[in-house]
Amino acid sequence: MTTSGSSDYATFRRALRRAAPSLQRPLPWIRHADPWAILVSEVMLQQTQTSRVIEPWGRFLERFPTPEACADAPLSSVLTLWGGLGFPRRAKALHEAARMIRDDFGGSVPSDVRSLRSLAGVGEYTANAVASFAFDQRVAVLDTNVGRVVARALANRSLNSREARATAEALLPRRDVASFNQALLDLGAQYCKSSPLCQECPVQRSCAWRREGGADPAPMSAGVSRPQSKYVGSNRQIRGRVLAVLRLGPATRMALAQALEDVDPDRREPIIEGLISDGLVQRTRRGFQLAR
Ligand code: SF4
Repeated sequence: MTTSGSSDYATFRRALRRAAPSLQRPLPWIRHADPWAILVSEVMLQQTQTSRVIEPWGRFLERFPTPEACADAPLSSVLTLWGGLGFPRRAKALHEAARMIRDDFGGSVPSDVRSLRSLAGVGEYTANAVASFAFDQRVAVLDTNVGRVVARALANRSLNSREARATAEALLPRRDVASFNQALLDLGAQYCKSSPLCQECPVQRSCAWRREGGADPAPMSAGVSRPQSKYVGSNRQIRGRVLAVLRLGPATRMALAQALEDVDPDRREPIIEGLISDGLVQRTRRGFQLAR
């Protein structure tokens, strides 16, 4: 499957272990003791840059320190706290997940991947990340950062999803899996980026791509995200503007139209309809409000 043998995996594993202390980022959810805090961070990190998550994550947990606190609150409170994180369907899913945790799991975030995957908005990556970081389960955490690392440092070729997963799993150590997974994420986020910093990379001597050369295998590999489409002027931006208005309170149809007067009504109306059908916005007698 890969051009590297198991001794290359062991060499890379050792190099990463040595480099791990220097790779650590001061992120408040790393090594956090509370699985709920970790789940919230992972959902927020799904489509938002790390630096933009730190402040809303703290605010969210202050208001909703437990799944139950979140589950008992109306969706509108969760959407208000979600603020500018974008992709607000995640907020709705997290609210649903909190209700499932309250109703089906006795108020505690489940520890096994299968149960985690049954929660709203939790896919393979998020389930594995929570299982690893909150419960130290021996599972691979394959996000876009780790996808780049395994394609470059271990395989030196583009990997399909099955291969990327198998490579990440074969790389797992027997012990201290959470700190190893964190080091892989840290390496991908700080050195093995889309434009990699190989000259300064602390594991460069154990990297297959660095050693063998060739075209960068990461861009076409599974799990490696493509650049997001332009935000300015997009429907995503207009959806965000509608929600920003409604976060201040219910708005009449006229007030909302005035707040978005630069947007063609033929475009504005379907966007509002889309927010209603996504369950994020509700009609009121005179206009709209955040869904409750
Ligand atoms: S040497 Fe370059 S490609 Fe290899 S792991 Fe480091 S940053 Fe990534």
